[in-house]
Amino acid sequence: MGRTAHLCNVHKPRSHGGKIASRGSSHAPLTKPRLSWPTVVKRLLLASPRGYCAGVERAVETVERALALYGSPVYVRKQIVHNSHVVEDLRSRGAIFVDALDQVPEGATVVFSAHGIAPAVRREAEELRLTTIDATCPLVTKVHAQARRYAEAGYAVVLIGHVGHEEVEGTLGEAPEAIVLVQSTDEAESVLLPDDRPLAYVTQTTLSVDETGAIVAVLRRRFPRIEGPAREDICYATSNRQWAVKELVREVDLLLVVGSPNSSNSQRLVEVARAEGTPAHLVDDVRGIDDSWLAGCETVGLTSGASAPEWLVTEVCEWFRLRGAEVCELDPVHEDVSFRLPVELRRAERTAA
Ligand code: SF4
Repeated sequence: MGRTAHLCNVHKPRSHGGKIASRGSSHAPLTKPRLSWPTVVKRLLLASPRGYCAGVERAVETVERALALYGSPVYVRKQIVHNSHVVEDLRSRGAIFVDALDQVPEGATVVFSAHGIAPAVRREAEELRLTTIDATCPLVTKVHAQARRYAEAGYAVVLIGHVGHEEVEGTLGEAPEAIVLVQSTDEAESVLLPDDRPLAYVTQTTLSVDETGAIVAVLRRRFPRIEGPAREDICYATSNRQWAVKELVREVDLLLVVGSPNSSNSQRLVEVARAEGTPAHLVDDVRGIDDSWLAGCETVGLTSGASAPEWLVTEVCEWFRLRGAEVCELDPVHEDVSFRLPVELRRAERTAA
């Protein structure tokens, strides 16, 4: 059953899991206020849940607190989360983002991103005598541990995921000789697996629930004894946001997803809407909206990926409000998930206190 209750005229940041999900007040608006605009659509309908997940909140807070503890610069390997605005904000506050650890001076502090790292990266950090803080999302760490356990027990492991994604590179690095990557149902149909070893699968955390289910179904048909998690490893935030989009697209003519192009879970939200027959576009911020998309639209849906701060959504709401649209939200769903900060950071803060 779909939800029908809407809260209208909402446009303010709201809380997620007891924490404020936006730091919008510290950012300049992306749009200049104007007195009036031509009406483009009647209504903007917001998905719920949307935006920051617990893993992203933890990772961003880790860098902020590391900066407060050690001062600038704090190095971060890769983008801490896949959102250009979050990265730019932290950069402006003293974080230095690097692609490789050899760009970090000896003895400096480096934060590992939410997407996780291969064990080889951890070893390299030790060799370079870096102080490390691991902001890998605990739900990614869980997949690493499962892949490692399977490999140590002699399994051949299928990793369902997207080539080149940092999370996939990290998980593959746990046991490269035992893990094979499968990205699609076609690849699941053709993958060759050994017949003298037990088989298992794990998945990237930010995949499409439906596509992953189809890939798993192929693997189970071809390899009936393959083992895997009771549910795929797709995390709560990814699946909740996809579920919310499926509900929302029943009521809208177009869906806008706020998120950066390299955000896997944001891209999946666009795909979910399109698979349901609703046009959808990914925008990094309000400036990405193309007026021509709105032609003939009465109701537009809006959601955001798990790494997109709520202030970006607020800017889009304001853009529509200034054009006369009523802004409504599907009855809000609150996610009560939170993760403790990395143990290295908590220890360092205690020592400094
Ligand atoms: Fe963790 Fe999921 Fe958020 Fe990724 S999207 S950081 S796996 S909670």
